[in-house]
Amino acid sequence: MKIALIAHDKKKNEIIELAKKYKDVLSGHELYATGTTGTLIMGETGLPIHRMKSGPLGGDQQIGAMLACGEIDLIIFLRDPLTAQPHEPDVSALLRLGDVQSIPLATNANSATIMLEALKNKIYFC
Ligand code: PGA
Repeated sequence: MKIALIAHDKKKNEIIELAKKYKDVLSGHELYATGTTGTLIMGETGLPIHRMKSGPLGGDQQIGAMLACGEIDLIIFLRDPLTAQPHEPDVSALLRLGDVQSIPLATNANSATIMLEALKNKIYFC
């Protein structure tokens, strides 16, 4: 399964903790991430990750293009709902495309945990 991992700056620690906790689960999948998120997760876990540009520089749009092509199967995008993002239009476009493709998409850590538990327990796969 191709999984996209993205986190806004104030959520980077949360996605790193999730990646550490579910490293064994994630290691069985092909991982993609926006630039900074991917670099941090790789550094903390050693998981191999295809890194796009940083989100504000087009990384969200790159993931969005993959989504539009049916090349992403699941997204964990830990958004910061309390901070204005310069690339908000890109964020909205990515979330919209996730719904267009009906892709499982977690925007907070607890939702992501449920999805990762589903993968771990082989309740969800495609
Ligand atoms: P980043 O991008 O991983 O490069 O920080 C995430 C985002 O802000 O969309």
